[in-house]
Amino acid sequence: MSKFLIALSLFASTITASPQTYTKIVQCLTTSGIPQAYPGSPSFTELIIPLNLRLNYTPIALALPTTVPQVQAAVKCAAKLGVKVNPRSGGHSYASHSIGGEDGHLVVDLRYFRETALDKKTNVATVGPGARLGNVAVALFEQGGRAMAHGVCPGVGVGGHVLHGGQGYSTHTHGLLLDFLLSAEIVLADGSLVTASSTQNSELFWALRGAGMSFGIVTSFKFRTIAAPPENILFYYPYLWNQAQARAGWEAWQEYCGGFTEPVIPREMNIRWVVVNYASGYMMFLLEGAYHGSQADFLVAIAPLLKALEKVGGLQADVRGTGPHSLGWLDSLLYANNNDLFNEQGTGETLESPLNYTAHSTFFTKSLMTDNLSPSGIDAFINQLYTTGPTSPVGWYFIIYTQGGPTSIIPSTPSSSTSYAHRTSLYEWQLVALVAAPPFPSAGIDWLNDFVAAILDVEEGAGEKKLGMYYNYADPSLGRVEAGGRYWLQNYPRLKAIKKKVDPKSVFMNPQTV
Ligand SMILES: Cc1cc2nc3c(=O)[nH]c(=O)nc-3n(C[C@H](O)[C@H](O)[C@H](O)COP(=O)(O)OP(=O)(O)OC[C@H]3O[C@@H](n4cnc5c(N)ncnc54)[C@H](O)[C@@H]3O)c2cc1C
Repeated sequence: MSKFLIALSLFASTITASPQTYTKIVQCLTTSGIPQAYPGSPSFTELIIPLNLRLNYTPIALALPTTVPQVQAAVKCAAKLGVKVNPRSGGHSYASHSIGGEDGHLVVDLRYFRETALDKKTNVATVGPGARLGNVAVALFEQGGRAMAHGVCPGVGVGGHVLHGGQGYSTHTHGLLLDFLLSAEIVLADGSLVTASSTQNSELFWALRGAGMSFGIVTSFKFRTIAAPPENILFYYPYLWNQAQARAGWEAWQEYCGGFTEPVIPREMNIRWVVVNYASGYMMFLLEGAYHGSQADFLVAIAPLLKALEKVGGLQADVRGTGPHSLGWLDSLLYANNNDLFNEQGTGETLESPLNYTAHSTFFTKSLMTDNLSPSGIDAFINQLYTTGPTSPVGWYFIIYTQGGPTSIIPSTPSSSTSYAHRTSLYEWQLVALVAAPPFPSAGIDWLNDFVAAILDVEEGAGEKKLGMYYNYADPSLGRVEAGGRYWLQNYPRLKAIKKKVDPKSVFMNPQTV
């Protein structure tokens, strides 16, 4: 039996797509000259390992194009055979959507589309979707001292990140990564290549900036850039609080970020809480972030919050690096990620990742986009934290960013101008439940779902208000309609109408696409 047929018989027993379809797609990709891997071929198993080891799926094949015509041909092969297609850029999807989110899809892996080229006259950057945030940051800085605002983890791929948001240590000041996007080259479901921008295919451009995975495969982005911020203050203030202190601390924080009278937080402040379990009824609340400006200005800007938190009390936390540290742009990105300014040996980490970079973890994440919680919402959150957190069936940590709100730049772009639906939400919550290695117990999923439900029950009341969720922290426990309603809120119906026009047969599909 030929190697191909052995692979075919192995594959047929593990997947729902018919053996005929499998044979045909592999043949079509081969005829089109597209580098590929398929079940049974040497590197396939390694290439399809997802970031989240909790969610493994077996694609029908994986295309590894090196040119745009190959991307177009791969889409045509799949569309002709009724196979669903998923682009993979950095592969950091929490729900393994870039390997389909279910078995039997064609993955178009864009790892070879990783250029970053800065036009020094216009300061416009051309960036491939497979480029990783750290590589892009270094390239922009080295090519012309330029920068963009984006997420903190340097290994995240530009493709998925920008098409659904892009939130991090500069976004309160400079905007989401998707607000830097000027245009995108995209391969559509019929294999055609079009440009989407504010003047060309503008409806598609609107849809791409928030829900891009549903509409095609972006092969190239053009971004505006800003001068790299010269002075960046990274700061860390750890608090060990019991339940009553946490409640008081949260109220002080809400007053600072979105005070009902007047918020105090300035635009230059990019700030978040990291919350982890500590011991004996205490939780660690680590206040951290980046301020774009001088240390003197930072100290003035943070003072009202620190003063209010001082009154809350709590235990002394022994964390190296407490306080502010002034850094240049690239160092601020590096240390924002590894948080260890005081490791004399160095951590060995760099911003740039190699071509075949991989990272793995075993987790379940939920997200929430909220304004200031109501007093009973704070109670629900803090009660849940202190009553269930210490005995949770899995490990966990939460990260709560200030993203929108009256002093942030994000809501200064009208909500209707992109499909990203959360501009006015003050906070972005990422709630992560994790274990060291698979299997992940179902009790861990129930625990986190119950945790979020406790907040939603209070904040949404009888349904008069609907809180959003963030697709870049995809939650695979949500069904398609629930996910669409939460990720895209008021923009969901318009996205569905565009999907019908651009991809009527849902060639681009995962369990949560529009
Ligand atoms: C360690 C870590 C840290 C993170 N930190 C942050 C953070 O600070 N801020 C933040 O906002 N997010 C953060 N994220 C979330 C991250 O932004 C998302 O997971 C993002 O979607 C990853 O993009 P990717 O290209 O790496 O992922 P992929 O898995 O390749 O893609 C994610 C989704 O986008 C689609 N997609 C990918 N490329 C394309 C393309 N070219 N055209 C059309 N659709 C495409 C995929 O099909 C999939 O649905 C983090 C994730 C991880 C794992």
